[in-house]
Parts: sequence; structure tokens; C-alpha cells
Amino acid sequence: MSGRTLVLTGGVGGAKLVLGLQQVVEPSSITAIVNTGDDFRHLGLWVSPDIDTLLYTLSGQANAAQGWGREGETWAFMDALRLLGGEDWFALGDGDLALHVLRSARLAAGDTLTTITADFASAWGIGARILPMSDQPVSTHLDTEEGDLAFQTYFVEQRCLPVVRRISFQGAAAARPGPDVISTILAEDVQAILIAPSNPYLSIDPILAVPGIRDALHSARAPVVVVSPVVDGNAVKGPTAKLMRELGSAVSPEAVLAHYGDVVDAMLVDERDAVLDLGVPHDVCDTLMHTLADRARVARAALALADRLQ
Ligand code: GDP
Repeated sequence: MSGRTLVLTGGVGGAKLVLGLQQVVEPSSITAIVNTGDDFRHLGLWVSPDIDTLLYTLSGQANAAQGWGREGETWAFMDALRLLGGEDWFALGDGDLALHVLRSARLAAGDTLTTITADFASAWGIGARILPMSDQPVSTHLDTEEGDLAFQTYFVEQRCLPVVRRISFQGAAAARPGPDVISTILAEDVQAILIAPSNPYLSIDPILAVPGIRDALHSARAPVVVVSPVVDGNAVKGPTAKLMRELGSAVSPEAVLAHYGDVVDAMLVDERDAVLDLGVPHDVCDTLMHTLADRARVARAALALADRLQ
């Protein structure tokens, strides 16, 4: 296959797929459109967790065992913060801090998240393009039995324990897609638009909530293929399955597909899930991405499915 590949993605699950794509197509032909609904201001700093997960993963700096942050991180800042009685529920490693300080300073000076992210990616020699879904702040909130919780409060501080009734994306209606997001989706040379195995509700829905992105996906020439984030009737990690149940959904590839609706043209389903008629074309493979070879296999299978639809 030749042409560009786009990936709509959250953090860890999506970064694994992008890393796999880098093994099978030219990295510079890949564009990741990344969720920024998890972004928040903490201790005066602007933190963009999903963008940073992609930056760390694609530059080989991610702490894979921990699932967030960087490998070989040191914690002098957090230790000092704690001694002063500062909020310590959100861990900021010393190296990680450099990213947040620089990003915050540049945002304050008028630079956009898109430009800053591109500069970080270039400094670390990342070939793929990383595009924030929007340069305007969008903030995921969860209406829970404990009240309204901002995303990081729910996810990190409350460890996803509160039962969720509704999810909203504050600021989304007024946000614009990042400068190159729509033109990239609509570009003639796009061969495949993949929706990563990310959390549909917390990582992909915020992207689809930015006005214009859903319409662009409908109009795109390239097929939209979702890689199922449900494996063997459950989530591999994170709150996806718990959330789906709390919101009244089954935990199955069919339910994920129904949730995305007509934005999706095809689905890559895990071999552990027996699906009958999905209503859209699908392929089956082992979608678990433990090793680099696994990541490449899933990327290849998703691209082959897209190719078949062209
Ligand atoms: P996100 O990418 O930031 O949304 O975060 P996560 O890494 O927490 O993953 C979210 C969803 O992706 C969960 O439903 C996981 O089950 C799914 N996921 C994570 N890793 C894999 C994988 O290797 N294969 C598949 N098929 N799904 C995965």
C-alpha cells in the first residue's frame, strides 16, 4: 500500500498501534489525530497526557511497565512538593516536568498546541505527525454518583471507581479542529483512517465531538476502520468495560460498532470474540499487542482490511 494513514487515538492503546504502523509503512506517511479531552491545568502547568504518551512511545522513551510517563524517570520534584504540602495525587516526574513547563510557557506566549507538539516531535526525531484534535481546550467531564468529576480527578485521583451516568466534553461545541486536521482527513492520498483500540467513550468520542471532524470522516475517500478495543468480551485494561456496563451497553465488538455508528466502514475484531453479522465488513485476528511484532501484525491487518474496501 502507498499513501497516507491516519489514526484517531487516545494514549496507550493507540500509541501501540501507531508504533506498529511505523514498522509497516513509512513513518512520515502516518498522522495521529490525538484526543486532548484529558488535558488539564495542574499546579499552573498545562498537561496533555495522550499527546505525551504518543511522544514518549514514538521516541522510545515511554515507561511500558508503568503504562504512563517516561522510562528512567526521577522524582526529586514530587519529593520536594510533598514536603511542602503540595498536591501529590498526579505524579509529575522530573523529565516529564520539562515538557509541561515548556508547553505551558509557550502556550502563555501565544504558540498553539499543534506547533508546540510538532516541535517536541521533531526534537525527538519522531517521523509520524502528531496532531492535537484541537488547539482550543476541550475538557472531558464525568457525571457520576459522586457528582461532576473532571477527567483526571475521575481517572487518577478516584481510580475510575465512581459509577458514571453521563460523559460530556466541555468546550467541544466551540472548539475548532486543529489547523490541519480536516484537510488531512479529506486529502486525496489517504489510504486508510484507523480508529485505534482506545477507549471509545473517553478517548475517541472527544475527537468526534469537535465540530467538523465527524462530517469530514463521512466525506473522506478513505475507509474508516476501527480496531476493536474489546478483546474476549472485556477490556484489555482501563475502565472501558466498566464504563460500557454503567452506561447500559454490552461489552462486545458489536456494541463498540453501534456506539460509533455510521462513521465506521469496517472493523478489525479479535479472534477471541465470535461475531456474526456486524453489518459492516470485518476481519478477524489476534489484536493483542504485547510485542513489537504484535503491533506490526495488527497494523498490517487493519491496513489490509482498509485496502480491501478501497
Ligand atoms: P487509550 O488508548 O488512552 O484510550 O487507553 P488504553 O490504553 O487504556 O486503552 C483503551 C482501550 O484499548 C481499552 O478498551 C483496552 O481494552 C484497549 N486496548 C489496549 N491495549 C490493547 C491491545 O493491545 N489490543 C486491543 N485490541 N485493544 C487494546
